[in-house]
Parts: sequence; C-alpha cells; structure tokens
Amino acid sequence: MTDFIKTGVIGHPIAHSKSPLIHNYWINKYRLNGTYKAIDIHPDNLQNGVGALINEGYSGFNVTIPHKIAIMALCDEIDDLAREIGAVNTVTIKNGKLYGTNTDAYGFVQNIKANATDFDFTGQNALVLGAGGAANAVVYALLQEGAAQIIITNRTKEKAQKLAQLNPDKIKIIDWDLRNNVLDDVGIIINTTSLGMTKNPPLNIDISKTQNALVTDIVYAPLYTDLLKVARNNGIKTVTGIGMLLHQARPGFKLWNGVVPSVTKELEDLVLS
Ligand code: NAP
Repeated sequence: MTDFIKTGVIGHPIAHSKSPLIHNYWINKYRLNGTYKAIDIHPDNLQNGVGALINEGYSGFNVTIPHKIAIMALCDEIDDLAREIGAVNTVTIKNGKLYGTNTDAYGFVQNIKANATDFDFTGQNALVLGAGGAANAVVYALLQEGAAQIIITNRTKEKAQKLAQLNPDKIKIIDWDLRNNVLDDVGIIINTTSLGMTKNPPLNIDISKTQNALVTDIVYAPLYTDLLKVARNNGIKTVTGIGMLLHQARPGFKLWNGVVPSVTKELEDLVLS
C-alpha cells in the first residue's frame, strides 16, 4: 500500500474553491491513495495554520486569496517563476520545508494552446485589460511566450505601471478610457479584470471593432461573459477562462502525486455544474 497523500488548498474564505473538486476527481480517476481538502486559514493565523499542515504530514497545498503573497515569507525556497510573478499558488512540503511556485502562467498558456490550436503567441501584440493579481501571471506568460508588445490598461493606472516593470521595453500603458482605440493593433485581447463576473458589471468595450484578434476572458463564472458573447456573435475567435483554472492545477498535482493529470470535457462539466 502506497503512502496516503494529503493535499489541499488554503484560503479565506475557501468554501467557494473549485480546487477540491478538480483534485479529488483526478485522485479517483488515477486510483490514488490520498485526499485534497479545502482548508480555511485566517490571515492572522497563516504561520500556525501552515505549521499544522507540516505536522499533519501534508505533501503540499495550493494557495488562494488572500494568502498568495503572504505565503512567500514562509517559504524556504521560491522558484524564479513565482518570484517574477510576485505570488505563490502552489507549495510542496519536503522534510518540513516549503517550496513555492506559481502555475497560473502555465494555466493561462495551456488553455489558449488547447483551445485555439492555430494561435501562436510569438510576435503577437497583446492587450491586457486589468492589472490585479491574475494579470501578473498573464503578462509574465505573454513575455515568456514571445509576445512582441503588451499593452496594459487598468482603471488604476499606478498598478499597470508597476506591472510594466516586468519588461518596460515591451510593455506599454494606456489610459483605461482609451481601451477601444487599440483593438485593431493587437492579435490577442485578454480580460483579467473581475468585470463580467456574476454579480459584477460587464466589461464595457467595443469588441466588435476588432477583426483579427483572439479574445479570451479569465473570468469563468459565467463561462460565457458578455465580452465573449459579443465576440462570438461577431465571428471572433474566443477562449473561455475555465481551462486556465483546470490547467493551473496540473503541475501541483504532478508534484505531489507523481501523475500528470489530463484536462477532460468530463472534468470541465463537473466543475461548471
Ligand atoms: P484582483 O487582484 O482583485 O484584480 C481585479 C482587477 O479588476 C483589477 O485590475 C481592477 O482594477 C479591475 N476592476 C475591478 N472592478 C472594476 C471596475 N468597476 N472597473 C474597472 N476595473 C475594475 O483580482 P484577480 O485575482 O486578478 O482576479 C480577477 C478575475 O480573474 C476574477 O474574476 C477571478 O475570478 C478571475 N481569475 C480567474 C482565474 C482562472 O484560472 N481562470 C485565475 C485567477 C483569477 P483596479 O486595479 O483599478 O481596482
């Protein structure tokens, strides 16, 4: 009998997290001996909460809001990827030590590659709407994949300026009010704001003005945001955000369980149900 592998996701609140559904689906599918739990840790108790996971023999855990930055101070090692993105979402525990990485950039890229098979990031100009936590990983991914120029626009311009420090030569900032003016200059448009999410206002953008760009939204609730609906109705190629969530879970699962899990339609339907 192999060891029982304990894993989970820490956050606060955590009840909404889809990660237990994804990981336990894979644990069952690959007939592994383990479990993945949602673990609520209050920000005031992060160090003790993580210490308890080490003592309980956890192999690792995912990290979600609001701990993605705070966990970095508790990690014994952080890889270059997470350091550049400025956040850790995946931690492996070995001999009581914490090793942090970030899989959001991987999730973003794999989702596009899986669902827009003829799209090539190399040499593309990109428009990134938003400069919050998720935008960091998206911009990092675009740079890694060889995008030519990245235009970032965000309601709070200072946050976009901070993000541009990743590569000032390739990243240009424009005012939020000017977002409709650059749609013809880019090959991919990515919404990383929370606009369009259930209970939030829609993203106000005249997407029908773009002719040749791939349009993707990292919001996945609803699966088809107004942005994606309008794009589809205008014959524009789209990719939804659910695949980013599913693909970002794969590297952590591999690190802890030694199996590279697949993203399937069955899993996507389960998570969206
Ligand atoms: P965040 O750090 O809170 O950032 C929110 C972003 O939305 C900021 O750029 C913010 O602009 C912008 N925003 C919010 N309200 C706005 C408004 N009324 N007008 C203009 N801009 C507005 O959140 P996050 O962690 O980056 O997540 C953003 C979204 O991505 C969420 O819906 C989340 O569920 C989704 N997400 C999906 C995945 C996935 O795997 N598919 C992964 C991560 C996140 P300001 O800077 O001006 O406030």
